Amino acid sequence: MITHSIFPSGAPYAHFTHCPRCGKASLGKIENRAIQCTECDFIFYFNCASSTAAFIFHQDKLLMGIRGKDPQKGMLDFPGGFIEFDETAEQALAREVEEELNIKISSATYLTSVPNDYIYADVLYKTTDLYFICGVEDISNLKAMDDVAGFRLALPEEIDPQCLAFESGKKALQCLLEYLNSHVK
Ligand SMILES: [Zn+2]
Repeated sequence: MITHSIFPSGAPYAHFTHCPRCGKASLGKIENRAIQCTECDFIFYFNCASSTAAFIFHQDKLLMGIRGKDPQKGMLDFPGGFIEFDETAEQALAREVEEELNIKISSATYLTSVPNDYIYADVLYKTTDLYFICGVEDISNLKAMDDVAGFRLALPEEIDPQCLAFESGKKALQCLLEYLNSHVK
């Protein structure tokens, strides 16, 4: 169903006012997922962006990056990032961890996925964040790079969720703690 109400601010399509194909101010929306032009029938769906994140352990401690850029600059976050076109989640995970922390992961086991809201330059991106438990053979070259300003190591049960940058990270950490309680002991 197409509705013609003013797009609410904060919605993924809030900044779209004119049809990208015919240029007319004739956009409606399909639920909260797509824009549709009433003049030329152009339709564009806003799909979830896929993102990866790594739970990397070093001597029982979990490795986190300190965000060097907005959104959530200065907050803690698990290493990872967006999956690029034609890339697998595992490839994106390995690439992002190496770009951010200068270390290579040796294994990646899928744990869970969590939906997230990621606001960049005043635009909301709905994301699906995929969390993996990762092994690393060597962290002697560990170094904060790219958009990471530093790193922290902490026992997972001692991490304050309020210090984590994103809601998805908080939920995934909870999932990790439940997994560790049920599998490791
Ligand atoms: Zn149009």
